[in-house]
Amino acid sequence: MGSAPHVVVLGAGFAGLEVARRLHRTRAQLTVVDRHNYHLFQPLLHELAAAVLQPADIAEAVRRELAPREGLSVLMDEVKGIDRASRSVHFAHRTLSYDYLVVGLGADSSYFGHDEWRARTFSLKSLHDASRLRHRLLLALENAAASSDPALRRWLLSFVVVGAGASGVQLAAALADFSRTAVAAEYRSIASEDVAITLVEALPRILAGMDERLAEDAARRLRQKGVRLLLDTPVEDVLEGGVVAGGEHIEAATVIWAAGVEAAPIAGWLGVEPGPGRRVEVGADLSLPGDPAVFVIGDNALVTGEDGKPLPGLAAVAKQQGRHVARVIMSRIEGTALPPAFRYRDRGAMVSLGRFAAIADLPRLKLRGFLAWLLWAVVHLGTLVNARQRLFVVWNWMWAHLAMKPGARIIVSQEGMSEPLASGEEPASRRRSA
Ligand SMILES: Cc1cc2nc3c(=O)[nH]c(=O)nc-3n(C[C@H](O)[C@H](O)[C@H](O)COP(=O)(O)OP(=O)(O)OC[C@H]3O[C@@H](n4cnc5c(N)ncnc54)[C@H](O)[C@@H]3O)c2cc1C
Repeated sequence: MGSAPHVVVLGAGFAGLEVARRLHRTRAQLTVVDRHNYHLFQPLLHELAAAVLQPADIAEAVRRELAPREGLSVLMDEVKGIDRASRSVHFAHRTLSYDYLVVGLGADSSYFGHDEWRARTFSLKSLHDASRLRHRLLLALENAAASSDPALRRWLLSFVVVGAGASGVQLAAALADFSRTAVAAEYRSIASEDVAITLVEALPRILAGMDERLAEDAARRLRQKGVRLLLDTPVEDVLEGGVVAGGEHIEAATVIWAAGVEAAPIAGWLGVEPGPGRRVEVGADLSLPGDPAVFVIGDNALVTGEDGKPLPGLAAVAKQQGRHVARVIMSRIEGTALPPAFRYRDRGAMVSLGRFAAIADLPRLKLRGFLAWLLWAVVHLGTLVNARQRLFVVWNWMWAHLAMKPGARIIVSQEGMSEPLASGEEPASRRRSA
């Protein structure tokens, strides 16, 4: 490796990938490590779960993302620990030493101290999660179509989404569209109204943090699609076959957890105190206080915005931070002037509401309906990594939304579906309570 400094980037998400893309004009050796061999475009995961898009539409191999170049290595491995004293990272299959370390390992679901709820719910964080949820949705419909027991059918066709932030709202809208298109077109024995989607939220409104009037518009559109909104209703328990919320026992074969996130367990690895959401507080240049060789970015970093609140977990935040850290590292290596302190440029937030509808909360503009969807679609298409993906996504949107035809609904395997649903049976706990 000679005297070239070694930069190790942990995670090929929005943050890590941006560092790697920008760190090209230096003599540094760069190693990017991710536990997957692909970069995932999380903002479209709900469309994979609802059978609008396919896995390859929203994920791309990291090696293809980062064209081969002198000094660049891409590795697939899982981070197991970080030793700052010896400046090394322990992975499942190797140990690497670093001169600069960038940590961008993203976030996971948080169950507010009820880890037992993880096994009873579906989440929407990874390609695996979304594919598993899609299989569950399709199995529920197949089993309901084959059943003559009205109570069992009702249970199979009931879905609860916990958490009305952007992910929960987008997913509820996509599921509602799916039930209207796929069910109406192809399951003669099921009426689309038989599919019950309940969105449960502890706060008195949906999409906290977004413009209130836009959020009201989103709530109205969800209700129009048949989604039942339970606001101001914290979930008290998650059972084998449903949830208890606001004292009500809502029976549902499929419960999807979109209520909370927490950063990957990096604070322990770095030997620092975690902040809210397990995030790690960083300095103005996004390095760890007292350790200028280590940077923490994206969903892992706790950075205060100009309004005094922590920056949200958004792809735009992660990308801007990745760009900034690349500049800081290049300046340090080349001995040039350091960039000014990191400042997030807020370009707003958008939430899709299914077929040709969205809301867009931009700094100087509030959009809703089709115009907002058009903007959402253009921005997301623009952020997808390659032309092939853009083409397929546009085609799949046309097919799903214009032709009102759901995407491919192939149940590849029931393997790994240890849930009772794979056998078409209710869980014993529900039979007892029924
Ligand atoms: C369903 C959903 C919808 C969203 N919608 C939007 C949206 O509409 N707009 C928006 O701006 N943001 C959205 N977000 C948030 C956005 O995706 C995140 O803020 C962004 O991905 C954060 O980037 P990151 O690089 O910090 O983490 P990530 O993009 O999550 O990348 C982390 C990487 O680290 C890897 N990794 C994790 N642990 C390990 C380990 N131990 N070893 C090796 N590798 C590891 C992962 O495989 C992953 O590739 C959404 C998120 C979700 C889940």
